Amino acid sequence: MKTYAATTEGTPSSPITVLLNASRADLYDQCPLAYYHRWVARDLPTPSSPALKRGTDTHRILALYNRAYMQDGAQPDPDTFLRDLWHGHVASSPEADALRDYIDASIRGYAHYCALWGLRPVAVEQTITLPARPLATNTAITLTLNGRIDAILHATHNSPLLPEGAYFACDFKASAVALTQEMRAAPSTTIYLLLAAYWMKRPATDLTVGQFSPRFEEDVRVGFDEVELEAGRAHLRTIAEGMAQSKWGPRVCALCDHCDVQRQGRCPLQCAREVDTNDQF
Ligand code: SF4
Repeated sequence: MKTYAATTEGTPSSPITVLLNASRADLYDQCPLAYYHRWVARDLPTPSSPALKRGTDTHRILALYNRAYMQDGAQPDPDTFLRDLWHGHVASSPEADALRDYIDASIRGYAHYCALWGLRPVAVEQTITLPARPLATNTAITLTLNGRIDAILHATHNSPLLPEGAYFACDFKASAVALTQEMRAAPSTTIYLLLAAYWMKRPATDLTVGQFSPRFEEDVRVGFDEVELEAGRAHLRTIAEGMAQSKWGPRVCALCDHCDVQRQGRCPLQCAREVDTNDQF
């Protein structure tokens, strides 16, 4: 079997399978060329920064908190959880102190959010894979969705946030949350809805997907009706076809301002460096 790219496999005579997860679908949707260099050619430096490390560490501790919540069946007191977490910890640098403050604020923010709205985790860092299915528009291409959902929360009572019994797939963000319209348009929202629905054995239209800001001061949540869900599926089909047909053209987008492809001189558009003189006073 010939491998065409990091995300597709097949032979010319057999269906090409496209494997899609949330972040890769969003990247392809923003700029196919950036996607190509990151995940097909894999010729960009691995992203690393203090902010990325902070995000990874915070996700890990939030997962610990959620697992303790699921195991105990009751919400852990955040002060006790954090005291046990940091027991014996000796800060070695200002960076370590700053990370600890950040994690403390995140856990307290999340605990407050869960208590206020009556939310209880039923899944933590759940990896879900949808079986491959041929595209309705092109049966030579099959699409598999997979990914990991930070947490699925269950509303234990009625609140202005969610009705009792509702389920909510969460994406903890290490940076600012998206605008609602951005989230509605992002392919990742459809992917999270379909993955959570598959795992919960519920219709995707019964679920919502949400993003939390790092300290849980903000959240944005989105649910789809049947028409919106079909539009989201059509968007995924377009992405899958683009990948299967090796469409890797550049697309000006929000990534252009900090794009490794352009830093390495591989983007033909040179978009972030161009100055539109009409915008100058
Ligand atoms: S600079 Fe913009 S258009 Fe060019 S590869 Fe990067 S994201 Fe794509």
